Amino acid sequence: MTTVTDFQKTLGRMQVEDLGIYVHVPFCFARCRFCAFYMERLREDRVQAFMDALAHELRLYARDLGLRKTPVHTIYFGGGTPTTLAPRQLARILNDIRYWFAVEDDAEISVEAHPGTVSPDSLGILRESGFTRLSVGAQSFDQDELRDLGGRAFGAEVRQALSWAQSVGFTNVSLDLMYGFPGQSMESWQRTLGEALSLSPTHLSCYAYTMEEGSPFHREIMQGKRSAPDQEFQLVLEDETVDRLVAAGFERYEISNYCRAGYECRHNMRYWHVLPYLGLGPSAQSSLGHARFGNMADLESYADFLKRGTLPLDEITSLSLDQVDRERMVWGLRMLSGVPVRMKATEQKTALLQTIRQLGEQGLLQVKKQGRVRLTDLGLRFVDTVAVALL
Ligand code: SF4
Repeated sequence: MTTVTDFQKTLGRMQVEDLGIYVHVPFCFARCRFCAFYMERLREDRVQAFMDALAHELRLYARDLGLRKTPVHTIYFGGGTPTTLAPRQLARILNDIRYWFAVEDDAEISVEAHPGTVSPDSLGILRESGFTRLSVGAQSFDQDELRDLGGRAFGAEVRQALSWAQSVGFTNVSLDLMYGFPGQSMESWQRTLGEALSLSPTHLSCYAYTMEEGSPFHREIMQGKRSAPDQEFQLVLEDETVDRLVAAGFERYEISNYCRAGYECRHNMRYWHVLPYLGLGPSAQSSLGHARFGNMADLESYADFLKRGTLPLDEITSLSLDQVDRERMVWGLRMLSGVPVRMKATEQKTALLQTIRQLGEQGLLQVKKQGRVRLTDLGLRFVDTVAVALL
């Protein structure tokens, strides 16, 4: 088993050409009822502990583990709810990243925002301090659905947040929507899509609801107090989403993501291309070379380890070449353009090519002449089956 100390030595010797950086801000005001992510209710004393620990973590990677001045192409502040922090605190974290790393002039710097936590002033500060992209969690524009989802903002707040964002100079704004949760109808989803389009975002993420173990919805479904999501109906809603958004000029570039030309989320593209990224903050995940590692999902332990000068990791995996190829295939297939198959013949690669051929015969994958493989329309519906076969 690799110990954190051994792993820190390995990291210190690693050559990393460039990076995306993810910052996980763990705070929310309340738990949304569909969510099982690691989060903490916002408390001022915890915020300071988080800020201090994050500063330690940045210094440890940059100064002690050799990543100082590595070029950074994308930065993404997610959570949790990053905008539970004051805009000056978010700006301070961004400045720290700029101090330790070589953030490119044209880097994409995204921040997720809860519409109820922003104002023209706070958005103005974020824009001025260098954030280039705002991702607003809306989920729905139906008031009853929003009440049921819990912890959400109301439609009016989302409309206002987008209008303020655009007025302070955010030209790249994304909305997160969710479909197929218990109680949602086709009519309400159509209204939500219509409202979202009327706000002129450049990007839309539309996620199918999945039952997350540990979430309040999951508990209610298990207790028979709420019906489980209907997967057939989710597919009907997905078809409606594709038709509506494509007709409005959006490109579906990834299974759940749509954008105006040129507005793909560059940070998420790094995940799907399996390019190096560093995750900072409790529960954040990282991928460098063949190493996959994740931070503890607990603020107190995360901060304690960093105070002692040790990375707060609770899982470290080193992938074989074959596993890297398979991972690249599975993530790459999420993009509608597909993924190139460039493999020298080895025993493992022959087995992988055989799996690709079989999935092709089942109508789930299409191998294009240029050596790219992509999901067919059927494959897009059975992406999990394809992933299991490939891994
Ligand atoms: S969905 Fe987002 S805002 Fe809601 S509890 Fe989960 S992390 Fe927090």
